[in-house]
Amino acid sequence: MEINVAQQLRSAIGSVRDYEVSETIDVTGDGNGSLVQGKVSLTRTDRSILVKGKLESEVELSCSRCLNLFSCPIILNIEEEYFPTIDMVSGAHLSVPDEPGSFTIDERHILDLTETVRQCALLAIPMKPLCREDCAGLCPNCGHNLNQGPCSCPPQEPTPSA
Ligand SMILES: [Zn+2]
Ligand SMILES: [Zn+2]
Repeated sequence: MEINVAQQLRSAIGSVRDYEVSETIDVTGDGNGSLVQGKVSLTRTDRSILVKGKLESEVELSCSRCLNLFSCPIILNIEEEYFPTIDMVSGAHLSVPDEPGSFTIDERHILDLTETVRQCALLAIPMKPLCREDCAGLCPNCGHNLNQGPCSCPPQEPTPSA
């Protein structure tokens, strides 16, 4: 997910460029590629390139109730500043603000969105994913997936309240 921003680093402060994203990357780090699509805007600021936009993707998750794998759509709200490491005009090395997690644009003027997308995906993935709102889960007794119909276990005794 690399964008060449050489042109934009030369442009005036405040200039904006839209960039269409449509690329398959491994957003969750599980080895499976997910198609990430959408549009980001790149704004030249006095010290950086500000990337903003909303991307959509889909990741494969395991349902927290029935453990089935399912495709979960996620929205990635991107807002990240990328700092150049080389001055476009003089070619001098620039010092990058010492902020934790700040992103840089490399010597070839490539801005790489991959890590930002991964971090946003981590935030976008639900803690307890459900394959559907009313997932019936597994029978605690025999492990049957109750989404596929009832099992033959006797009805559960209500748990005595303490
Ligand atoms: Zn489920
Ligand atoms: Zn059962």
